[in-house]
Amino acid sequence: MTTATETGCFETRAIHVGYDRQTNADAVSVPIYASAAFDLENARRGDALAGGSLPGFEYSRVANPTVDALERRLASLEGGVGAVALSSGMAAVSYALMCVAEGGGRIVAPVNLYGASVDALGDFLPKFGIYGDFVSDINDLASVEAVIGPDTKAIFTESVANPSTAVADIEGLADLAHKHGIPLIVDNTVPTPYLLRPIEFGADIVVHSTTKGITGHGNALGGVVVDAGRFDWNNGRFPQFTREELVISDQRAGEWHSFHSRFGNQAFIKRIRIKYLRTFGAVQSPFNAYMQLIGLETLTVREKQEVASATAIAKHLTTLSHVTSVNYAALEDSPTYDLALKYLPNGIGTILSFTVEGDGSNVERILDATKVFSYVPNIGDSRSLIVNPTKVTHREVPAGYYDAAGVSDNLIRLSIGLENVDDLIADLDQAIAGAY
Ligand SMILES: *Cc1c(COP(=O)(O)O)cnc(C)c1O
Repeated sequence: MTTATETGCFETRAIHVGYDRQTNADAVSVPIYASAAFDLENARRGDALAGGSLPGFEYSRVANPTVDALERRLASLEGGVGAVALSSGMAAVSYALMCVAEGGGRIVAPVNLYGASVDALGDFLPKFGIYGDFVSDINDLASVEAVIGPDTKAIFTESVANPSTAVADIEGLADLAHKHGIPLIVDNTVPTPYLLRPIEFGADIVVHSTTKGITGHGNALGGVVVDAGRFDWNNGRFPQFTREELVISDQRAGEWHSFHSRFGNQAFIKRIRIKYLRTFGAVQSPFNAYMQLIGLETLTVREKQEVASATAIAKHLTTLSHVTSVNYAALEDSPTYDLALKYLPNGIGTILSFTVEGDGSNVERILDATKVFSYVPNIGDSRSLIVNPTKVTHREVPAGYYDAAGVSDNLIRLSIGLENVDDLIADLDQAIAGAY
């Protein structure tokens, strides 16, 4: 059998979906199509390809066969109708937020977003007319509803927050968003689709930094936007999808289309590709797509072991002196433990964070003393990583948000990799004990 199943279990689809060996010289591993452009073959075919009536490849800024395999695979794993892979997670976040609020609008989001996303909605996107309305607790649905107004275009949240690991009530937020005619956009980077699929709970758009757990080895940047294909963009709030656009019309034939009239419930993901990727050009390279496809092949086994280790390390940290709190939503006394049980029965992910006694100098001593953990601003690597968020990954979070965002200068974040868990625990033990 050379054609992959589109319908198998998650583990099977992570290895097979979206790639056909028979049309690829029987190559078992997805080839890297290092080609900027593709042969249109003849004038008639070129016209059909460019007009979009024939599927195929023309130019790698818009689509490439290696990237296409990754996109199909990620769409399947998240349960969406389509996906666009991009050059980084922030490209995915930015494109999704700009596309949904194009022309100006407001987006409701929690303050515990990834630092660059806080900066985007709080400081940079406002210069393009897109404003964030931040709430301190995204699961306080009444406070979320209170800030939804006529200009609100979406609710945006992370499924599992980084570094607090607070779990979002996706179903509650999706119902609330839909009641107001707006979509729910979820950054699902931390759990990966193996542990949680927000579309199953009503989310409309899912974004990822595929740099993290999906690639899994800290060796390639990437991002993806996935569309559930269910949202009705023709409800009066989203003129970007209902106005006619030359790029998807046939002016010679006098046929004019909007993204909604041409693509229906796939209007969002088509607009991401045909307008955002085509214009802003944050293209996923075929080589990085290849690295991410390799990463997906081991996603399930990596996540299983890393979640088991992260859970053991979180429990162990709660027993240590000098450790004042441990943030891992799978721990029973965590504020979002019930949501973790509901949405993430197989584990909440591979990051956790903890606070320590003393001040910044104790934190620095711990960071400098670990030998197995590397001091690295990344997550989802096969190597275990340690970082102080307020100095590095969350530096752009305003100090006024620290409490609600679950960060402080005494906080240390861990990303658990594939080393032996006993070595990881011994490394933390000696680093923490030696810091006081
Ligand atoms: C890392 C990260 C991003 C940004 O992804 P890049 O690939 O670094 O651009 C966005 N959201 C979350 C939750 C992240 O952890």
